[in-house]
Amino acid sequence: MDLSIFTEFFWLHFMSHASPLLPLLKTHFGYDGFRTLQREIMEAALADRDVLAILPTGAGKSLCYQLPAMARQGITLVISPLIALMKDQVDQLTAAGIDATFLNSTLDPQENRRRLDAIQSGGVKLVYLAPERLMAGDFLAIVKRWHVTALAVDEAHCISEWGHDFRPEYRRLRELRAVLPQVPVIALTATATTRVRQDIVTQLGLRQPAIFVASFNRPNLNYFVEPKQDAASRIVSYIRARGQESGIVYAQSRRRSEEIAAMLRNSGISAVCYHAGLDGAERSRNQENFLRDEVRVVCATVAFGMGINKPDVRFVIHADLPKNIEGYYQETGRAGRDALPADCLLLYSRGDVSKILRFIDEIPESDARDHARLQLEQMADFAESDDCRRVNLLGYFGEPWPEGKCGGCDNCLAPRETWEATIETQKLLSTIVRIKQSGSPPVGIRYLADVLIGSRAEKPLSRRHDQLSTYGIGREHSAAKWTEIARQLVRKGWIAIDSGTYPTATITVEGMNVLRERRQVLLSRLMIAELPTKSPRTGDIECDLALFDLLRSLRKQLADASNVPPYVIFSDVSLRHMARSYPVNDADFLAIPGVGERKLTDYGPSFMQQIRAFLQGNERKSFVALPENAGSVPKPPKPSVNATAQVTLELWRTGKTVDDIAAERNLSTTTIEGHLATAILNGEKLDPRAFYTQAEEEQMHAAFQGYTEEALKPIFEFLEGRISYGKLRIFRANQESVEHWARAENRSHLCSSAWFEEG
Ligand code: ADP
Ligand code: ZN
Repeated sequence: MDLSIFTEFFWLHFMSHASPLLPLLKTHFGYDGFRTLQREIMEAALADRDVLAILPTGAGKSLCYQLPAMARQGITLVISPLIALMKDQVDQLTAAGIDATFLNSTLDPQENRRRLDAIQSGGVKLVYLAPERLMAGDFLAIVKRWHVTALAVDEAHCISEWGHDFRPEYRRLRELRAVLPQVPVIALTATATTRVRQDIVTQLGLRQPAIFVASFNRPNLNYFVEPKQDAASRIVSYIRARGQESGIVYAQSRRRSEEIAAMLRNSGISAVCYHAGLDGAERSRNQENFLRDEVRVVCATVAFGMGINKPDVRFVIHADLPKNIEGYYQETGRAGRDALPADCLLLYSRGDVSKILRFIDEIPESDARDHARLQLEQMADFAESDDCRRVNLLGYFGEPWPEGKCGGCDNCLAPRETWEATIETQKLLSTIVRIKQSGSPPVGIRYLADVLIGSRAEKPLSRRHDQLSTYGIGREHSAAKWTEIARQLVRKGWIAIDSGTYPTATITVEGMNVLRERRQVLLSRLMIAELPTKSPRTGDIECDLALFDLLRSLRKQLADASNVPPYVIFSDVSLRHMARSYPVNDADFLAIPGVGERKLTDYGPSFMQQIRAFLQGNERKSFVALPENAGSVPKPPKPSVNATAQVTLELWRTGKTVDDIAAERNLSTTTIEGHLATAILNGEKLDPRAFYTQAEEEQMHAAFQGYTEEALKPIFEFLEGRISYGKLRIFRANQESVEHWARAENRSHLCSSAWFEEG
């Protein structure tokens, strides 16, 4: 491999050791390593660049400005939209021994004064502010006098009207920038839409920002969809089976969330409600009790969310269908922030689709209405699909998944049986054709089903569709079954649905081909009725559960004594590590993830005492070693060398060229190069010179600099098509196989603003 790559490699490696960040990370936060993109983001921020970081929930965004604040002089101002969030963050920082404070409307004047003095005298590293506070009176003039060296805008999507949490006060942040013109800004959000991202850059006036976008995959979340039958008892049995774990149940209406909460309480499960119909005091009391592990379950409408920093939400149940996939992603995203496994269960019925449709129909005819319908359709497709849920979800956000299967959803874990539906498909598709031939306008799916079962309903009769040759030829199935079959054919792309007020079905060209060629058709059975209540818990940290429970109660006691939520003291990850390595001296205790120096001093003695006491009456258990990335974000699977790639590889080994193999196998050169790239990713060493020249390699090297996004198109276009996709793939595979290649970690990607503009 050419030298420049190695120089780059050693430089990155050298940087990582020289960086002051790592020791600070352990001292203050107790962590030994960075999560994906954290280091890159922090280094850009410390180089005083403006930064936009787009990372999914739980990826560790807060650390991206908190740790740099410890590495630089002066104050980092943090703009945060919710008082509850602010307080939570400050509590956590304080527990870690970091000087942080917040200013908002809840403080009395005296307390406010005291905090302003502390800030003025330089005793504070991080100051959290509500945006409205910032703009009140002469506050900007006060801020100007402080030694502010960085500005962090948390939940930065609040600045965008396109986002779901628009806050008009966020718009005034530009005035703050005008007062602090030299201060670099870091904006953070978990919002996936490009429109909102672009809006953030414009609205905040970010200057040539370094933009970081992580994968939106949440590897520790498992996704399940079940048919909604007897929802009430299913929810109870599901939650009962999950011990002490905390979770959220989302419902579409306030009334339903109340009913579910009441039903859970009647079944002995502590549950409260959270929705916009409760008064402010009750809402915050309920939220507080959930955060503090006083209640296990919150039954909520969508109103409940952004303020929820609780890291150990172990399950999210959707008792009703969400209106769109973005909402579903957001709400399920509140599970498993701590990176330990968590489950998402959606209870699905076609009835919910109709219910939401009725609401949508009330919207006056408009683009917004059509959009809402389309989004609902996508949500229903997601629920009904027999393909991998994760692949679907990520695909919705435009992200590929290499394997096509994730191993962490119902469809991967329990693939559905298929059945031979050739005849049924022919009957359905011919009905569409016959109706068209009869000169009638297209009809909806439900109508097709009526024709097939020979319904005596008024419409088919008045339109004389009882005269069609397919009328009544489907009496072997119910109308519901025919509807289900038709929907599967829609997903296969054989029937198209137009999205007017009355969605109608037409046959596609591909559908015509299926019909003409009498193709054999396999469809999958309906969703499996009831899934196991807990998924296989990959990524879990096995530990001594008896000790874990003791440590948990100790944590709760200490938390109550200092009036903070338990996770402020230690996360479940830390407790699990303690309950598997039984630390009883300072050095061992400090080795626990999440234990920094301050927590060692403040909490170490009580926890070690508890562990010692436990060991007097109990055997020490031993556990198999954790994989290196346990409790952190695991990588998606590498593509494996399948049979066809193997054939290519063997031909290659006999000395044939790409062109030879392509000709011999009657495949494109791109395909052959793809096979070889996969082989390289799996450890095969192939000489780069056999694929591209030194000069090409240098061009690719420059183009890929800092780019680890999956899509090759931007690189291909950047190089103006001079270098083929095949070569790009091989080059990248070679790069990635250099093991420590710092940025090739995970599927996350880093892009410069240039990519952003083009993408
Ligand atoms: P986000 O704001 O992106 O949703 P948070 O900042 O709340 O995520 O972080 C989620 C959890 O991950 C927190 O409990 C945090 O302490 C933990 N965390 C963050 N960075 C690391 C790291 N490098 N190693 C281990 N845990 C981390
Ligand atoms: Zn899957």
